[in-house]
Amino acid sequence: MEDKALHILNSTFGYSEFRDQQQAIIAQLIDGRDAVVLMPTGGGKSLCYQIPAMARAGVGIIVSPLIALMQDQVAALKQLGVSAAFLNSTLDAASAREVEQQLLRGELDMLYVAPERLTTERFLNLLERAPIALFAIDEAHCVSQWGHDFRPEYIQLSILHERFPAIPRIALTATADAPTRKEIIQRLALENAELFVSGFDRPNIRYSISQNQGNAKEQLLRFILNEHENDAGIVYCLSRKKVEQIAAWLSSKGLNALPYHAGLSAPIRQQHQSRFLSEDGVIIVATIAFGMGIDKPDVRFVAHLNLPKSIESYYQETGRAGRDGLPSDAWMMYGLQDVIMLKQMMETSDADEAHKRVERHKLQSMLGFSELTTCRRQALLKYFDDHLEQPCGNCDTCLVPVETWDATVVAQKALSCVYKTNQRFGVTYLIDVMLGKDMARIKQFGHDQLSVYGIGKELDAKQWNSVYRQLIARNLLSVDVEGHGNLRLTEQCRPVLRGEETLHLRKESKQIKLTQRGRKAYNTVKDTEKALWEALRACRKTLADESNVPPYVIFHDATLMEMVERQPQNHDQFSRMSGVGEKKLEAYADEFLKVIREHIDTVANATSSSDTVEETLSLLRSGMNAEAIAAHRNLKLTTIHTHLAKAIETGEVELQQVIELSEKEIKTIQNAFLNFGDEDRKLKPIHEAFEGAYDYGLLQCIRASIDIPA
Ligand code: ADP
Ligand code: ZN
Repeated sequence: MEDKALHILNSTFGYSEFRDQQQAIIAQLIDGRDAVVLMPTGGGKSLCYQIPAMARAGVGIIVSPLIALMQDQVAALKQLGVSAAFLNSTLDAASAREVEQQLLRGELDMLYVAPERLTTERFLNLLERAPIALFAIDEAHCVSQWGHDFRPEYIQLSILHERFPAIPRIALTATADAPTRKEIIQRLALENAELFVSGFDRPNIRYSISQNQGNAKEQLLRFILNEHENDAGIVYCLSRKKVEQIAAWLSSKGLNALPYHAGLSAPIRQQHQSRFLSEDGVIIVATIAFGMGIDKPDVRFVAHLNLPKSIESYYQETGRAGRDGLPSDAWMMYGLQDVIMLKQMMETSDADEAHKRVERHKLQSMLGFSELTTCRRQALLKYFDDHLEQPCGNCDTCLVPVETWDATVVAQKALSCVYKTNQRFGVTYLIDVMLGKDMARIKQFGHDQLSVYGIGKELDAKQWNSVYRQLIARNLLSVDVEGHGNLRLTEQCRPVLRGEETLHLRKESKQIKLTQRGRKAYNTVKDTEKALWEALRACRKTLADESNVPPYVIFHDATLMEMVERQPQNHDQFSRMSGVGEKKLEAYADEFLKVIREHIDTVANATSSSDTVEETLSLLRSGMNAEAIAAHRNLKLTTIHTHLAKAIETGEVELQQVIELSEKEIKTIQNAFLNFGDEDRKLKPIHEAFEGAYDYGLLQCIRASIDIPA
């Protein structure tokens, strides 16, 4: 039986081995027993029921709460040559009847069904007449009333056990806090199931959090351009207005960014979501409304421009990056204003006091997490009672250790200023007082007479802002949210105020660039073999459009990357790549092999082109001028100039060796390029400016000399 599972893994899915617990889970089901599976996003849950569904006789019935997700999975399975279908409200009556007939005839390996349909009497009767391999309950946390996406229909699913006691069941989720887990087991009557728990870690996600120093959107842009050009990503903002602004800003910079929030009409939202899924490199800027049930494996980054309200939310939202296991970024930028705004939203909500207390506590934990000076992954896992022995080496604090400074005295000043102004003012005003600003408002309150007036000139306003933020994050100050965000002292600040405790705060660093530090695969491949990578993506996109499926359904990024690395030349080599099963080999190998072959040829040509440049240069060194070389090699003069321009650019020869113009003339032409040329320094405008006095080859050489330091 197990051989059969491995065979399916190899031949249908094109993977060489099982991951972690997959094999054990699959064996459990093939043997006809139940399983509860807690596995992080991207861990590989789908195979845990797909393979047993294929290995066992009959059809696997998969309950899934999200229509988009069902359609995606079925499309992907069909691409693999598996007989799969779904039943949900998007099908018209005739198509639904056809699927039901296939079910009864035993033609399906897998059938995806929405829970409300599954639990109808009519459908249950239908199932009793069909051969069934197993029941899989995906997103099983939907059964939990306390969870984030409770689905009342899920509670009815215990009926499966009553009506089909002999058929194995598997419940799967990525949400695994203890209460939810207990609820799943109890409500679905899975007390006898074996529990399979994988860790929470998502090692391919790099966590980094930095402080908003007033230029968040520029930082975001730089982050995307530096590390994720042409990648798909999600940017989360707190408000609709911010979503619109950021999407417009990124678009104005030439990125493919689309807004998504509840204020947009349903057709627009639908359109943006499907572009995100079906095109390469689309960035969705969204409120947290976006992302639930998005199963896109190649989201390369999730950026937060605001603080999520809890560590759970942070983990869930960042978890949408890198489901395919390739290096991905969880990047966040936050500032004091976000904290104040979140606290205000929380306190003014309609929730009862007990609820608010929990939320306050969660936000405080999130703040603490953001200000950490130790490994973020260790802290994140610890929050979920998981454990990581060593610092991870793949988060910002591991990669660029945070410097701290003794801020005890500074904190005392900041706290005193709050106290002396009667805890009635917000950060901006407090900082003005500490800096001794000459302002009517300060005088009006008589605060220019206080001992704290002008007491803080050793730091500037930005630095004070950072100090206040950290004091709030450490709960030494609280934000009075009913007023206008004025700060109050908390119990915890006493020891610091009294000088009984020293306080170390983070030094704010400039936005750190992490790219060059130990980044594996993805980015490096992109640099060296970018052209091939892009050509393969284009090929994938064409094939995807032809079949009307998202590109990742054809091949995942990981498979394309393997093509870049290994450059397979024939079917045999192609079939050995991860993600290439029999069906895809047959359907797609030729197209991709052609792209790879073309690439190899281009590279070969480029090499021979460097040979021809070499020949021109050696003739130049032997004393010939450009005209003589052209005549000797029987090439056009412009071609020789193009060779020489290349050599000038790389500094192998000097401009003066190549052209016979006076210093002054050269200067004039160079200046023309610098002054009235466009950014690309096109040749044509310059050629015209001098009324054709200098030919293009010559201009090319002069242009090549411009950025060479004298
Ligand atoms: P989950 O549902 O747990 O979020 P998926 O089932 O979507 O995860 O799997 C995540 C990715 O890992 C998919 O791209 C899947 O094809 C891939 N994958 C799963 N199992 C294996 C395996 N044994 N070898 C290689 N890739 C795998
Ligand atoms: Zn770390």
